[in-house]
Amino acid sequence: MANTFQSRGGTRRGPARGGKGGRGGKGGRGGARTVAVRRTAPVVREPVTLPAVMSVAELSEMLQTTGIEVIKELMKLGIMANVNQQVDYDTAAKVAVALGWETNARENGVVERATADFESRKAEAETDPNAQARPPVVTIMGHVDHGKTKLLDAIRSANVAEGEAGGITQHIGAYQVETQGRKVTFLDTPGHEAFTAMRARGAQATDIAILVVAADDGVMPTTREAVAHIKSAHVPMVVAINKIDLPAANPDRVKQQLSELEVVPEEWGGDVPVVEVSAREKLGLDDLLEVLLLVADVNELKANPHKPANGIVIEAKVDRARGPVATVLVQSGTLNLRDVVVAGGTWGRIKAMYDDRGKRVRRAEPSYPVEILGLVDVPQAGDTFQSFDDEKEARELADTRQARARVAAIVGDRPVKLTELYNQVQEGTTEELRVILKADVQGSLGAIQQALLKLNEDTEQGVSLSIQFSGTGAISESDVNLASTTRAIIIGFNVRPDVAAKRAADATGVDIRFYTIIYNLLDEVRSAMTGLLAPIFQDVTDGYAEVRNTFKIPGGDVVAGLYVLDGRITRNSKARVLRSGTVMHEGGIRSLKRFKDDVREVAAGYECGLGLDAFNDLQNGDQIEFFHREEVARG
Ligand code: GDP
Repeated sequence: MANTFQSRGGTRRGPARGGKGGRGGKGGRGGARTVAVRRTAPVVREPVTLPAVMSVAELSEMLQTTGIEVIKELMKLGIMANVNQQVDYDTAAKVAVALGWETNARENGVVERATADFESRKAEAETDPNAQARPPVVTIMGHVDHGKTKLLDAIRSANVAEGEAGGITQHIGAYQVETQGRKVTFLDTPGHEAFTAMRARGAQATDIAILVVAADDGVMPTTREAVAHIKSAHVPMVVAINKIDLPAANPDRVKQQLSELEVVPEEWGGDVPVVEVSAREKLGLDDLLEVLLLVADVNELKANPHKPANGIVIEAKVDRARGPVATVLVQSGTLNLRDVVVAGGTWGRIKAMYDDRGKRVRRAEPSYPVEILGLVDVPQAGDTFQSFDDEKEARELADTRQARARVAAIVGDRPVKLTELYNQVQEGTTEELRVILKADVQGSLGAIQQALLKLNEDTEQGVSLSIQFSGTGAISESDVNLASTTRAIIIGFNVRPDVAAKRAADATGVDIRFYTIIYNLLDEVRSAMTGLLAPIFQDVTDGYAEVRNTFKIPGGDVVAGLYVLDGRITRNSKARVLRSGTVMHEGGIRSLKRFKDDVREVAAGYECGLGLDAFNDLQNGDQIEFFHREEVARG
């Protein structure tokens, strides 16, 4: 796997964070903005100074050669590029060296300074003598219909600060309430999509997560997913058991179910505070807020307000009348009206600032959400922002970030692949193999989990393995999103992804591996972990189809009428019959027909008739995955 972009390990966590997990930036952050080309006689060349990003055409000019030569060198590195494509410093430097140039070490450009600045600000918060307690920032997660929205509304309406009641409430993506003279900030996009999207961009806005579970419904699939997200983000969790007003409410059952997910209530000797509430009857809300403050105190949330602001973009949009509008959460420092800020790839001078009640404000301190006007363009949710003294510096940083974003768009985020693990182990760039495990039944799930953990203990060298999430049932889109965010691979045992999950995996490049024999599963994972051997074969999906009806033909065999949902079916494909995400059968195709004719392939959107070798139990609603096996080059 020749891919030089691998060394830019930190990129997916966003430019302003080295991030934990993985040794990101092993010098991978180019930053020099100068395009200084020193032209001398080609024999005694002076070193070339390369910028953070450049087009292939620009690079060829700097190296005094043709675009074709550069493209050829890139191909040797496994990169197919045209002259307009952008390459980053690391790649360009390799090409330069290959063409006989020396390169100057990267200069510490504005990006480095901003990044270092951001990280030192974070680290300083712990040791900074001027750091002061700040309100906790809280996100609400949980299963659909368990009352997340209702709870957010109830808390907000019950706790508007004195004198503010009746004020116009705005939706800006976050709000603050006051309790016991202290403030709590809520991010009001419930659900873990926003949380995940932000984390995927390297941002962490949340200090405390409230997991809402309806007392009558108990732990549901999304509850389990939310738990996995919260745990993998190492964010403190508070459970709100909601709807305790209902006669069917059974809080003890919920606690029992949570314990099974290793979310053990404090009252049962665990470390997770659990509060029983009713969002409808406004019961237990004060208790919940009090617990949030306690958790905030325990975690000593602090920031220094006496410096330039930085934080995160929570929401952003273009307003027809007002132009780009962004809600930002200040994480440290103080944001002032008229400040120059950089937010993601854009910048601007703040010309107006509003709080969550639509009131104009002149300043915002740590943990305060405000809506700002004055950016020249719309940033993205999850982008970081910083105040700058110097407008020119701000503009330059925004430009550099935009250039980097273009590179990232070409290169894409690079999720981990099992086959690449070998290389990463050799390079020492990977310490942990993260896994999301899905199996058809609880029994096999437990057995595999234990065997994997055992593998972990037995593996002396190489990487350690951590299971981010495990569950039964088909591999879902949400599993893929979690894998993409946490850079995990997905292992399916007797289960397959549904169509949405498959599409998401294709789009994000998440590696999904399937097994039907535990031994093979363990063997492959062990090999990858010890860096001994990369897997050799992999299944490549050709298409998906759904059984619409079935017929018995003379002779007793069954053929099914199919509708091809995605991709194509070919006569040589192998078929895997899936019923509720579980593999019922795997084998060859006996017949493939359109009307009366045998056909070689059928594309998405068409119907066809299918008979399978040695399987006559096709049923309406079965999904069939068609695939072929491909040899995968060893790492
Ligand atoms: P979300 O999907 O998690 O945001 O759930 P909602 O806040 O939309 O609530 C789902 C449904 O549950 C709505 O019909 C709410 O009125 C209802 N609900 C929410 N909280 C409570 C509660 O404490 N008690 C009762 N009885 N119903 C509630």
